[in-house]
Amino acid sequence: MWVDSHCHLDAPEFDADRTAVVARARAAGVTQIVIPAVGAFDFASARALAHEHGFAYALGIHPLYVMRAQEQDLTLLAGLLEQHRDDPRLVAIGEIGLDFFVPGLDGARQEFFYTEQLKLARCFDLPVILHVRKSADQLLRGLRRIAVNGGIAHAFNGSEQQAAAFVEMGFKLGFGGTLTFDRSLQIRRLAQWLPATALVLETDAPDIPPQWIYKTQAERAAGALARNEPGELPRIAASLASLRNWTLAATAHQTSANARAALPKIEGLQA
Ligand code: ZN
Repeated sequence: MWVDSHCHLDAPEFDADRTAVVARARAAGVTQIVIPAVGAFDFASARALAHEHGFAYALGIHPLYVMRAQEQDLTLLAGLLEQHRDDPRLVAIGEIGLDFFVPGLDGARQEFFYTEQLKLARCFDLPVILHVRKSADQLLRGLRRIAVNGGIAHAFNGSEQQAAAFVEMGFKLGFGGTLTFDRSLQIRRLAQWLPATALVLETDAPDIPPQWIYKTQAERAAGALARNEPGELPRIAASLASLRNWTLAATAHQTSANARAALPKIEGLQA
């Protein structure tokens, strides 16, 4: 019924109780979860978890991990894409992209890994799952040079104009916990303004906790945990539903259809 189009289920935050987290997601009606890898170190675990639980996965090197990545990781990635070409659960290249928000990252190195992975997406005819942070224009420039089969701009946070450019290139935009904060004016405006067919839902768990899980810096420093999980998706979706004036059922139907359109191989997976 619900698709969590972006969840780092392999993250160590879930090591202690992953089975319970998955059970809560299923109980909440989240029938499909896309697990994007972030670097060579989790290619195997993303794939294994998708197979163990009947979910989907993506393989890629995340921009925040390119500093510790080796160029040969791209060769490893290409080899796995070839080897698992017929794996119905391998639905995209991701998480890839550019991050110009976090200081101290090498921009040229990020651009290199991004471009090389776009080439792989094109070569293997897979959509991409993009990490966008202060980088929408540069990501779009890459996509104009190396056209790929669409995908998802996850945790989207750009302008209307940038959103429209992604949509025009066949992308869906991912919305999650940020939607649940009244102060997220721009993201809430985008969620209202975009065409219905352009929206997908995601938790980005364990990150981007919704408002009811969120802890302040001081609370976290005092030891409070603020872990997001895929079972929160329907409640996050209620924020989208109220912004769009949709029923929850219509929201589930539309966003799930959009996720299948962005990542077509999901269609063939048993929910
Ligand atoms: Zn992510």
